[in-house]
Amino acid sequence: MALTLYVDGARWRDHLRVVAGDQPGIVPVAKGNGYGFGLARLATQADWLGVDTMAVGAYHELGSLFEGSVLVLTPWRPFEKAVFGDHVVHTVGRLEDLRSLAGRDDMPRIVLERATSMRRHGLTAHDLRRAAEELDGVALDGIALHLPLRSPGSAAEMQRLMTDIVAAELPTKRVYVSHLTSALLARLASSYPEFELRPRVGTELWLGDRGALRVRSTVLDSHQVERGDAFGYHGRTAPRAGTILVVSGGTAHGIGLEAPSSGSSWRDRAARIARGGLDAAGFVRSPYLIDGKHRLFAEPPHMQSSMLFLPRGVRVPEIGEEVDVRVRMTATTFDETIVS
Ligand SMILES: *Cc1c(COP(=O)(O)O)cnc(C)c1O
Repeated sequence: MALTLYVDGARWRDHLRVVAGDQPGIVPVAKGNGYGFGLARLATQADWLGVDTMAVGAYHELGSLFEGSVLVLTPWRPFEKAVFGDHVVHTVGRLEDLRSLAGRDDMPRIVLERATSMRRHGLTAHDLRRAAEELDGVALDGIALHLPLRSPGSAAEMQRLMTDIVAAELPTKRVYVSHLTSALLARLASSYPEFELRPRVGTELWLGDRGALRVRSTVLDSHQVERGDAFGYHGRTAPRAGTILVVSGGTAHGIGLEAPSSGSSWRDRAARIARGGLDAAGFVRSPYLIDGKHRLFAEPPHMQSSMLFLPRGVRVPEIGEEVDVRVRMTATTFDETIVS
C-alpha cells in the first residue's frame, strides 16, 4: 500500500523543455532524493533534454545513466571518496585542494568556486588570482558561483564577482551560476558577451510546474470512535465522536509533523482551547487532504502509515480510496512513481 507520486508526463516534459529553452546553457541539478523523482530518472530526463552537462550534489550520486559531463557540486576534499574520470568535473574551493588535484597524473577536470555572500564554499578574490598561476596538472572547465536564493543584492554581487573573475585572467570564459533570475542572467549575458554563463537549476526545472505532479496516499483502514475511546500507540482518547482513519505514508517516507498553521503563542492556544478546537486537544495539522481540507493527525506518524482523526460529519473515504497529500518533494520518498 503505497504513497504514490503521479506525474503528468506530457505536461512535465513540456515544462522541462520551456525552462531549458528560457535558460540557454542550463545545467540540470540532480541530488539528494532526486527532488522526489530519484536520481536515475532525472539523469534520463537530462539526457532527453539534450544538455551536455548535468550536476550532482556529491560523488556517491554519480551514476552511469547520463551521457555527458557531470559536475560535482560539493567541493573536492582530500577526505572525500572521490570518483575520477573524463566525464567528472570536480569543484575546487581551496588552493591546497587545487594543488592536490594538480599533483595527480590524470589531469582532472575542475571548476574553481569563488566564495559568495552564501559563505558556504569557495576561494577569495585573492586566491582566485593565485589559482590562475597553479593550473598546471588540471583541466580548467570554468568558474562556479553559488548565490543565495532570490536575493535582491544578487545583481550588484554578480557585478563584483564578474569583476574579480575578469581580473583573475583565467584561461576559461565559462561561469557556472546558481539561483539567478532569467532577467538577471539575460542582463549579465549582454554585459559580458565574451563569457558563457551556465545556470545550474534544480527546483525550478523539476518542480516548477506543481500542477503536473500529484501525491496520493491510500486509505488503509477506518474505525469509528466515540468520545473517550482510546486509540494509537499512546493510549490517547478521542476528544469527540468521529473516525480514526489509517492512511499510507509515515516517517519512512518523510511524512512529518508540521508546525501548527495558526500562531502558537499562549494567547492563540488559549483562544483555541476556548473554542474547543481539536488542535487544542493536541491534534496537529497533517499534510493529508480530505475534501480539500488538511486533516489532523490523531497521533504522530508511524513508520509507514499515519492515523488521522476525522470529526463526525466529515465524509469518511472508503478503504482503498486515494487521498491527496501535500509534501515537500525534496524530503519525501515515494513507494511508487507513475508517469503517464
Ligand atoms: C542544489 C544546488 C543548486 C540547485 O538548487 P535549486 O534551488 O534546487 O535550483 C544549484 N547550485 C548549487 C551549488 C547547489 O548546491
